[in-house]
Amino acid sequence: MIISIASGKGGTGKTTVAVNLALSIPNAQILDCDVEEPNSHIFIKPEIKTKKPVFIPVPEVDKSKCNFCGRCSQVCVYSAIAVLKKDVLVFKELCHGCGACSYLCPQGAIKEVNKEIGFIEVGEKINLQFVHGRLNIGEAMAPPLIRAVKKYINSTGINIIDAPPGTSCPVIESIKGSDFCILVTEPTPFGLNDLVLAVEVLRKLGIVFGVVINRCDLGDEKTDKYCQKENIPVLMRIPFREDIAAAYSRGVSIIEALPEYRKVFQELFEKVKDGKFS
Ligand code: SF4
Ligand code: SF4
Repeated sequence: MIISIASGKGGTGKTTVAVNLALSIPNAQILDCDVEEPNSHIFIKPEIKTKKPVFIPVPEVDKSKCNFCGRCSQVCVYSAIAVLKKDVLVFKELCHGCGACSYLCPQGAIKEVNKEIGFIEVGEKINLQFVHGRLNIGEAMAPPLIRAVKKYINSTGINIIDAPPGTSCPVIESIKGSDFCILVTEPTPFGLNDLVLAVEVLRKLGIVFGVVINRCDLGDEKTDKYCQKENIPVLMRIPFREDIAAAYSRGVSIIEALPEYRKVFQELFEKVKDGKFS
């Protein structure tokens, strides 16, 4: 089973839910796909066993074979290659490594060379398997690294995906294929605005989802009313507590600081697993 944890905006407590859920389920695996800023490791503190770089193939043009026909530039939907009168420029930072230009070059003038975009670390913490990706500084191509992280999905186990915040391409790459998505929000106007956008994305992708309201006692009732109106199950509410905030600031999970919360997160998992949302 794949359960992704997402949020329309950052800072809602998405990683808190992902980490505590993963730590509450025996023999689960967490995959941190927030590759631009992974931080689930701060709370899990896994023992890292392996680290490997991730590459994408980018074009390299042999100008002695090139006749500057412009075909490569026409087929690149990312504007990552430009053909001048007597030159071809490759903008590697824009290249998605799709291979279209080298495949369609009529002169066979393009070969692909590997460009490192980041790395993956794999580890464990007692009963929890851990995988995360980390994008190199200045690198923009998160989706290929997210795909590389998702290759570690255990098809027979419970996989918790910590998705990036927002509703852009890296989020879609992270959550697609999920059996269920938990949207974490907070009951504020900004939180609701971004929740509505995230709900639209999930409905388009056809992924079953529910909502966790974090800091549920700060803010207003509009988020609850929206969920009610849209028939979206509210799976769990986490109150604002100074001890939870203090644990977070020390890099300590909720269930470690307040062990009674283990049961609360286990109940969240049971609801998601069984599809019983009342
Ligand atoms: S498609 Fe090939 S031959 Fe044409 S401009 Fe690009 S690299 Fe040169
Ligand atoms: S590999 Fe794809 S994205 Fe990169 S330059 Fe070629 S066509 Fe564009």
